[in-house]
Amino acid sequence: MRFAFVSGSPALDLIGTVGSRRDTPVDLLAGPADLRQWVLECGELPDDVRVDEPSFTSALRLREALYELALDRLRARAFSRASLDVVNEAAAAPPPVAELTDAGLTWSGDIRAVLAHVARSGIALLADRDACLKECGRTGCTRLYVDRSRGARRTWCGMDACGNRVKAAAYRARKRGSSEL
Ligand SMILES: [Zn+2]
Repeated sequence: MRFAFVSGSPALDLIGTVGSRRDTPVDLLAGPADLRQWVLECGELPDDVRVDEPSFTSALRLREALYELALDRLRARAFSRASLDVVNEAAAAPPPVAELTDAGLTWSGDIRAVLAHVARSGIALLADRDACLKECGRTGCTRLYVDRSRGARRTWCGMDACGNRVKAAAYRARKRGSSEL
């Protein structure tokens, strides 16, 4: 797996394909082949979609619009009109088709259907006033996630690296503190 699916929503996972958005953004989607791989790895999307340049550009537009709306939500301000248009337009296309076979659930559909599903997942999340949307608590990680834990006490995005790194740093700080006593 090249991509992480830890955010609790495909919309947020797509947003998360840009790492460290604050300081030095790293975009994991450099071209159509990367997007095709992301779709393949996402558990709730068709396995094989063709991605051409125009649909790749649409995907990046959708990603940044979703990110802007999520930030609007985090900062408790009105949604950006232009981003609403991008997300709502993507969501208007028919979503992927689910089929149950002996092998389990399979999804079929083209890249437009994929983007429709991602947009719908973002809409469902952003429309839900009770959904607890958070940004990862580790400095340097700007990943967004839905906190569905009891009492919403989750602090990290769900990447093992984040929680473990913060805990290790706290442990080292405590050790340093106690040796100075
Ligand atoms: Zn994180």
